[in-house]
Amino acid sequence: MSDQYTFTNPVDQYTMPKPDEQYQDGPGLDAELSPRADHGEKTYRGTGRLTGRKALVTGADSGIGRAVAIAFAREGADVVLSYLPEEAEDAEAVAKLVTEAGRTAVLAPGDVSDERYARGLVQKAVTELGGLDLVVNVAGRQQTAEKLEDITTESFDTTVRTNLHAMFWICQEALPHLPAGSAIINTSSVQAYSPSPTLVDYAMTKAAINTFSKALAQQLAPRGIRVNVVAPGPIWTPLQVAGGQPTEALPEFGQQTPLGRPGQPAELAPAYVYLASAESGYTVGETLTVTGGMPTP
Ligand code: NAD
Ligand code: MG
Repeated sequence: MSDQYTFTNPVDQYTMPKPDEQYQDGPGLDAELSPRADHGEKTYRGTGRLTGRKALVTGADSGIGRAVAIAFAREGADVVLSYLPEEAEDAEAVAKLVTEAGRTAVLAPGDVSDERYARGLVQKAVTELGGLDLVVNVAGRQQTAEKLEDITTESFDTTVRTNLHAMFWICQEALPHLPAGSAIINTSSVQAYSPSPTLVDYAMTKAAINTFSKALAQQLAPRGIRVNVVAPGPIWTPLQVAGGQPTEALPEFGQQTPLGRPGQPAELAPAYVYLASAESGYTVGETLTVTGGMPTP
């Protein structure tokens, strides 16, 4: 495939070998993922769809957030990259790609479950980019637990703060700065509709992200600020090998989809670009699912 516009059979568009069982501590690094994921590094072709836009992307170091950052930059946006400090190696690789696209990359390490960092991140974006008109919440925490009894209060709390509180703080802090025409894009999951029995807390947060976004979208539409959501299916990223799935499930990851394979982060980027750009101007409060055919309501 030479770029994302090449006519291709989606069944075998990505011929990734089945992953081995593997585990990474902490948030997981793309640099240590095997096989490596595709974020469109070699293929994403921008056509000026986000020229001059100023974007904040959380979880921008790896996986879906990395693909979004690369695509946004190639579409003409400057990007603030939020990630955890231990992911600096991944984030620096993304910053290099953004810079190579001729755009500004601002590195902003920190923990979004900490209110001070989350709010300060917005202020940093406004200061360093000279404004803000795209807020993309991609950062998320997913830890599999076979039994409800296995979820500690601390882990439950961290998942909720990372997936929900951070989104609330970042949206609230951003609002005074967002001009009409801005877009907020949150990241849900197929788990919002078809929750796995082992992802009770995570799936719950993803349903809440959908509902938060649908309510907020109606509130902000009269101000010319659009809120939408992307809901991915099984995508090959470090999240899955860092506790997101049982290790023994990894070789079969994504095989259950109608397309018969996991998605690559690169396949999510066009959905975010569409919802960010003025071409989706009449699309408000929508959840765009990218699931390889897994049905959603
Ligand atoms: P990923 O691990 O590459 O990205 C998640 C990112 O979240 C990490 O890189 C990290 O920077 C960030 N993060 C986590 N906790 C944080 C914290 N406390 N502070 C700051 N940053 C933090 O994995 P991904 O799969 O690309 O995940 C991106 C989003 O997509 C998540 O919201 C996830 O729930 C969602 N999602 C993923 C899948 C999938 O199959 N991979 C499916 C549906 C939804
Ligand atoms: Mg990461």
